Amino acid sequence: MRLPLIAGNWKMNTTVAEAVALVKEMRGGLDEVANVEKVICPPFVSLQAVRDLIKGTSIKLGAQNLYFEEKGAYTGEVSPLMLAELCEFVIIGHSERRQYFNETGEIVNKKIKAALKVGLKPILCIGEKLEENEAGKTEAVVTGQLKSSLAGINYTASLVIAYEPIWAIGTGKAATSQQANDTIGLIRRTVSGMYGKASAQEIRILYGGSVNAANTTELMKQPEIDGALVGGASLKASDFLSIVRQAAAIRK
Ligand code: PEP
Repeated sequence: MRLPLIAGNWKMNTTVAEAVALVKEMRGGLDEVANVEKVICPPFVSLQAVRDLIKGTSIKLGAQNLYFEEKGAYTGEVSPLMLAELCEFVIIGHSERRQYFNETGEIVNKKIKAALKVGLKPILCIGEKLEENEAGKTEAVVTGQLKSSLAGINYTASLVIAYEPIWAIGTGKAATSQQANDTIGLIRRTVSGMYGKASAQEIRILYGGSVNAANTTELMKQPEIDGALVGGASLKASDFLSIVRQAAAIRK
């Protein structure tokens, strides 16, 4: 049985004061939900404040990115060692980073290695663009991203994969539960080919892309979908809580 995971990616939203207010609003409700791993990923500058607020609760903390070097002359970057003191998870290879910050498969691969080295649990994001989807290239794109991101990396249950079709992110147009389930099944078969059947059965693969309180149950009912990476809807306490509660209510 794979423990469902719901992660909120706040992206570049919330000042520290706003992050504190948002955590206070959702903390009690989230803490009460059992059988789902609940992760919130605020901006770097709020990690410490959020960490203090969720101390002693069942809520876990994640970062949205890292740099692959441990320390040195890399002005403005944040290292895996710095994050390991603060949080448990880190989102790596989000499509916004690939698109706006030129992150390649090679960079993503270095970041995953760097995260695992210090004990951070990577949430590796993969997903195809609209034109790739329409051209029937989804399978080639996601398997290619998976292989390049994980090249030279041994399997570990710490790794989480998030399938996020780019056309569904922030657009309000989620993949259908069937589409998401099919592609996640394909990703699981690729993991099986890379790491064996047992690893493929163990690894958690999330769906991300316009997940909201209205579509969570349908998505979570799908056998291959182990949780969600939630952007916009994670910034509203009532919506995020509803998503987490729905995930907990589905027994697979
Ligand atoms: C995301 O940021 O990973 C995401 C899926 O965003 P949204 O839920 O807003 O589509």
